[in-house]
Amino acid sequence: MDHFLYRDGALYAEDVPLTDIAAAVGTPFYVYSTATLLRHFQLFDEALEGTDHLVCYAMKAASNQAILRTLAQAGAGMDVVSMGEYLRAKAAGVPGEKIVFSGVGKTAEEIRVALEGGVRQFNVESEPEMEAINAVALSLGKVAPITIRVNPDVDAKTHAKIATGKSENKFGIPIARASAVYAHAAALPGLEVVGIDVHIGSQLTDLAPFEAAYRKVADLTERLRAEGHDIRRLDLGGGLGIPYTRSNEAPPLPLDYGALIKRTLGHLGCEIEIEPGRLIAGNAGLMVSKVIYVKSGEGRDFLILDGAMNDLIRPAMYDAHHDIVPVIEPVPGVEPQPYDIVGPVCETGDTFAKGRLMPPLAAGDLVAFRSAGAYGAVMSSEYNTRPLIPEVLVNGDQFAVIRARPSFDEIINRDTIPSWL
Ligand SMILES: *Cc1c(COP(=O)(O)O)cnc(C)c1O
Repeated sequence: MDHFLYRDGALYAEDVPLTDIAAAVGTPFYVYSTATLLRHFQLFDEALEGTDHLVCYAMKAASNQAILRTLAQAGAGMDVVSMGEYLRAKAAGVPGEKIVFSGVGKTAEEIRVALEGGVRQFNVESEPEMEAINAVALSLGKVAPITIRVNPDVDAKTHAKIATGKSENKFGIPIARASAVYAHAAALPGLEVVGIDVHIGSQLTDLAPFEAAYRKVADLTERLRAEGHDIRRLDLGGGLGIPYTRSNEAPPLPLDYGALIKRTLGHLGCEIEIEPGRLIAGNAGLMVSKVIYVKSGEGRDFLILDGAMNDLIRPAMYDAHHDIVPVIEPVPGVEPQPYDIVGPVCETGDTFAKGRLMPPLAAGDLVAFRSAGAYGAVMSSEYNTRPLIPEVLVNGDQFAVIRARPSFDEIINRDTIPSWL
């Protein structure tokens, strides 16, 4: 459920008509709904009620500080994967003890900054990284709390580019090596082993792979405890999928996911962390774009939009589907017609949808891409020297620009010409 609904024939974000935002900031733009963000966070929080837990929002999904602060004020921690994200979370007001540091290749500099600024734990992905964290911690006279990310060799049955829990993926250590790696960690004086971490992929639409992974984590917890490790925290990653179409998809609900966690791991008495990203932000954001031209082609018409693959890369990168809806509600009885919906960038990949049924549209009409809140703005680029598009946050009947569109001067003046030219 989200808070983007038609009212009196026009699409609203909560109590704000999207046409008002378009008039104020121009198109294209991203818009997020505070109520939807909070609702999704609370669904996870409630799903884990009765267990000691922390929901750490995986901020790589949508990392604007206004989004982070909205969630942090509701009690969320953050899962970060880079120094930039760590500093952004701190700037948004998240305390270090609620920041989990994930990622496959943390550098010594990133480790130092997080240890100095405070960190809940590092999720360690390899033995060389473990030794690096140990060395930095010792040099600072600190002890770094860590979990070790295990790779449970489970097929998440999701898009190959976002599956992370198979043995051929680069993530984590094989579960078969866990005893040896935990023993190694326990011998390093700069580390305090607090638990186990697992994350098997993104956009999972079935609970079975989670169940398979969490059962392996339960067995591993008991084995490591028997080997003398004080396993008291389980970080279960993110990955719960969202519906990208209104009709035929019904991914599992956070409540059922929470029940699965309690069923598979509840008896261990561990503190539970989860790291949802997509499910919190995905359906809390739209990208709104304007039709520049309607072009008649051979047997098909093209809607050429002012938004492009640099603004929303998911269709080009993951073959992702986004529902695209007109901002002005079509009058009942209007016959829809198929369009290829494309951006203006000179790449065939700059195609959002083919043969998509839409009401007849004309130049100047606005369309909204649904489910664009996660892995949308954060993956955008300035390819073709197209400015990053603004982000807007709605809260009830208020809205605010939370990232402004840069001017062309700002973009162009970022280059420097060497003295020999
Ligand atoms: C990407 C990622 C997440 C979030 O995944 P979603 O599918 O957005 O929920 C959580 N944890 C880690 C380690 C990740 O890499």
